[in-house]
Amino acid sequence: MPEAHPDSAQIIQDNRDYTLFSWSVQQATNPIHMVGGKGSHFFDGDGNAWLDFSSQLININVGHQHPKVLQAIKDQVDQMCFAGPSFATDVRAKLGKKLAEVTGLAKSFFTLGGSEANENAMKMARLYTGRDKIITRYRSYHGATMGSMTASGDPRRWPVEPGVPGIVRVFDPYMYRPPMGGSAEDWADGCITHIEEVIQMEGPHTIAAMLVEGITGSNGIIIPPDDYYPRLRALLDKYGILLIDDEVMSGFGRTGKWLATQHYGIKPDIVTCAKGLTSGYMPLGAVIVSDKIAEFFEDHMLWGGLTYSGHPVSLAAAIANLQVYEDENIFEHVNELGEHLGKRLEAMKRKYACVGDVRYIGLFSVLELVKDKKTKEPLAPFNGSSPEMAKLAAHLKSKHVYAFLRFNWAFVCPPLVITKEELDAGLDAYEEGLALVDEMMG
Ligand code: PLP
Repeated sequence: MPEAHPDSAQIIQDNRDYTLFSWSVQQATNPIHMVGGKGSHFFDGDGNAWLDFSSQLININVGHQHPKVLQAIKDQVDQMCFAGPSFATDVRAKLGKKLAEVTGLAKSFFTLGGSEANENAMKMARLYTGRDKIITRYRSYHGATMGSMTASGDPRRWPVEPGVPGIVRVFDPYMYRPPMGGSAEDWADGCITHIEEVIQMEGPHTIAAMLVEGITGSNGIIIPPDDYYPRLRALLDKYGILLIDDEVMSGFGRTGKWLATQHYGIKPDIVTCAKGLTSGYMPLGAVIVSDKIAEFFEDHMLWGGLTYSGHPVSLAAAIANLQVYEDENIFEHVNELGEHLGKRLEAMKRKYACVGDVRYIGLFSVLELVKDKKTKEPLAPFNGSSPEMAKLAAHLKSKHVYAFLRFNWAFVCPPLVITKEELDAGLDAYEEGLALVDEMMG
């Protein structure tokens, strides 16, 4: 166990006094003082080990402080810390080649994270097609810069509206709550015909791309019906609209494959990624484009660049991180453990009155909590919280299980290296919390 840090309280206070925290009303922030980590756990300033059941921001896929990634970073720092984005480097060549291999696409443009990747993807789609509009989905998050925040469908975009022009939103393949009413079966078909209707009404010649999360993450792990992507791909092809696949959260083993869309046998025109690309060890994102888009930029200007595009230390971290996925058979582990996770989640759905739905693929999963299984009334309102969700959060905190809860969703997205015993320990804590919620609901 780690030791308590003597100045922990002061450090937290100074953090609050001198820095601004994301997505927070500042006086309501209550940060944990994080001092280190190992594998699936991180340590706080009071000497507690927390089970990291949300992999920080669903990014630290290989767990905390993996020695091989740390070594690669140290080696790169010793060799060369920085090279500007117009220089050729060995790490740039290596990572570009590897990303082409695992995605089946052609070339990568490097950014510092997911938001910037989506900004650049949308811009490239506009340059390539000469069209303006981008279709996105309501239940989506694509980042916090102005364009990617506008492209997001979820309430985080509201404060910046009207944002950038040209974003058109459609409804999601959310089978638990079909937005037009009716059955899930009806909506499996309707969600595609609805997109075609929107394309017709907007004018196909005005639409550059559709930007989707491979599998929707922070808006409730929305897993589409099997034929959604093949049908969407055909629909977009029919109108010459590009498919941009945001794999920032769902990519790099989270669902047991390199890309979530690989489960559906389709190929996007552009993939954006970040998070699991380096497991968070260094900031990095990428826009990976198809042959035809890469070819276009052979004789057209790529209007864009970033001082830190292709930062050598970030690229070295990514190369080592991807190597760890392969050397340690991590995706196999995710698939095996994902099956166990699915069985436990299904059992929780049967056992607890408050569990309305469970959705899972690999180690990407959520419990959707409700007041009543029949009416599906959410346990907390959309964009809000409730005493019941607060109770669950407090219980998990008391057990030092670090969990991502949002509205009426309780996510389970641990590091991909988590052991079965660690996973079961975290799920046991969830079960205790769900029993408390059931008790509250009477
Ligand atoms: N896209 C998706 C699907 C995400 O989940 C996120 C972040 O959570 C982003 C984009 C934005 O990435 P970043 O925070 O690295 O800018």
